[in-house]
Amino acid sequence: LYERKPFITGNWKLNPNTKGEAIALAEDIASSVTSDSPGDVALFVPYPFIETVQNICGDKITVGAEMCTPEMKGAFTGGISPAMLASIGCKWVLAGHSERRTINKETDEYINAQCLKVIENDMSVMLCIGETLGEYEQNLAGPICELQLKKGLAGVSKEDMSSVAIAYEPVWAIGTGKVATPEIAQDVHEQIRATLKNMYGEDIGDSTKILYGGSVSPDSVDGLMAKPDIDGTLVGGASLSGESFGRIINFQA
Ligand code: PEP
Repeated sequence: LYERKPFITGNWKLNPNTKGEAIALAEDIASSVTSDSPGDVALFVPYPFIETVQNICGDKITVGAEMCTPEMKGAFTGGISPAMLASIGCKWVLAGHSERRTINKETDEYINAQCLKVIENDMSVMLCIGETLGEYEQNLAGPICELQLKKGLAGVSKEDMSSVAIAYEPVWAIGTGKVATPEIAQDVHEQIRATLKNMYGEDIGDSTKILYGGSVSPDSVDGLMAKPDIDGTLVGGASLSGESFGRIINFQA
């Protein structure tokens, strides 16, 4: 039997504005994590705040980066390499967030290179996948996720899959207040798990964590987490409030 410990994660995106605000928010969130909290917790935060947030969170919360550049060294102005992140104790990196795919035009090939380099540098990667509203309306959530999984994980070995988690984030639910119903999310998570089993075998399909993201709030978290294939959440807006994210961290199992 596979025990997939719940994994509650937050993505601060381009927030907050100052280091002082980041400290206050991290302290507020960290105070919600207790030995009774049902899962592991991670925060993906902007680069300038990573070490500060790590110092505040200690071993209560794992701190990750919101993206990285797959290039390792040299003339790539503005780049942040996986080796740099690993060297400051960063444990996780997000790859393929829909905002990066859309605004920064990151392709599946680029996202795949990020995944490979993050793993190569002994960190874990959370690969974000999900369909647009148009694709959802055409009943294409499953096939789109399958395609993004196959492209994003190309060259990732079975052994490496212990360093991978998947975040299913329907684009129509991110930042819109329109959370997927637990039933819709469960249905797609089941299809994602089936694809992983197809790619890597039963064991890896059963042990890989699949998180849901898209307008998760204190009101929706319990219903989502009750579903068998939803192993955690990736939370944007609601991770910017200690009160809201604290409630999500301590969801009712
Ligand atoms: C996200 O940033 O991945 C996200 C799901 O945002 P929100 O919770 O605000 O929809």
